[in-house]
Amino acid sequence: MNPFPRMLQALLVFVVLAPVCGAEAFAPLKTRNVVLITTDGLRWEEVFGGAEAALMNREHGDVQNTNALRETFWRETPEARRQALMPFLWSVIAKEGQILGNKSRGSVVKVSNGLNFSYPGYNEILAGIPDPRIDSNDKKPNPNVNVLAWLNEKPAFKGRVAAFCAWDVFPYILNREQNGLLVRAGWEPMAVGRPNPQRELLNQLVEETTPMWEGVIYDSLMFRGALDYFKESKPRVFYLAFGETDDWAHEGRYDHYLRAARRVDGYLKLLWETVQSMPEYRDTTTFLVTTDHGRGNGKDEWKDHGKKINGSEYIWLAAMGPDTPALGERTNTELLTQSQVAATVAAFLGEDYHAAFPRAGGSAREIMSK
Ligand SMILES: [Zn+2]
Repeated sequence: MNPFPRMLQALLVFVVLAPVCGAEAFAPLKTRNVVLITTDGLRWEEVFGGAEAALMNREHGDVQNTNALRETFWRETPEARRQALMPFLWSVIAKEGQILGNKSRGSVVKVSNGLNFSYPGYNEILAGIPDPRIDSNDKKPNPNVNVLAWLNEKPAFKGRVAAFCAWDVFPYILNREQNGLLVRAGWEPMAVGRPNPQRELLNQLVEETTPMWEGVIYDSLMFRGALDYFKESKPRVFYLAFGETDDWAHEGRYDHYLRAARRVDGYLKLLWETVQSMPEYRDTTTFLVTTDHGRGNGKDEWKDHGKKINGSEYIWLAAMGPDTPALGERTNTELLTQSQVAATVAAFLGEDYHAAFPRAGGSAREIMSK
């Protein structure tokens, strides 16, 4: 005989099962703002091992001044080399936050779109769904919703989402035309807001600087516009997409590639210090840092990436903020894919992207407090 009336039974089943099925359960989080940062095609090899000796020369890295480069970036151990390359990442993020993707220590972060180049990668990061329809870097509007636009539709985030991107394909990747997101990309004026002398100068420099690449603005010009916007408009969701790491690698310039990575690290530091100096952001802001693809790992393959370049599917991910336990460099982690970044951005803000888009990767609970 059953002691429980049928209604009560149903209720019990619901209470017991509800937390483990359906939507992801979220603990109360302290994060109120998320800054997502990517630097295009920066290899996990350099992130975890610093500069590579075999490429610090004229033959394989087109290095113009090998002595100066060695002095800046060469050290005897991988730990000292990575510290020299990305001092903020290794002295602050890897202590107060976490970094995943050191394949040689059992932590794998991977691109899952199979193509290992930029548009498919950024679509995977931002929409959370690898999409075979996106098979080129052509300027075509992305048919997928992305997490930035999705958050921007919610009252709590409306008008509080912005993206500053070095590459001029981002307005299409983010589908700015359709969703009206604030996106600055490529050689567009990078200073946003009421004109003042500093903004006028920045936009003048954008206009007067000779591009090395028609489609990619220098990281410095992009970042200065971004930082200015960040301080004044105080977005809750902010995306920064650096570009030079990839382009200098394609040029075969290992010296500039390393210097571009070093500069991105300096910008991370500056942005983090800005965050900690503003009451709107202090102790309530999470940084997520990753890349759209890896690169090959031979003496020439390092310059390239793609479906046919072995190893270019391996990437890395760093996180720091009030909801990320300070576990530092992670080893022997569960496989993480690029498609999980979108849901992770949302999860830090208490939003369930995966429930809205079940085909998107789930959030990376590994880097969040339980
Ligand atoms: Zn590339």
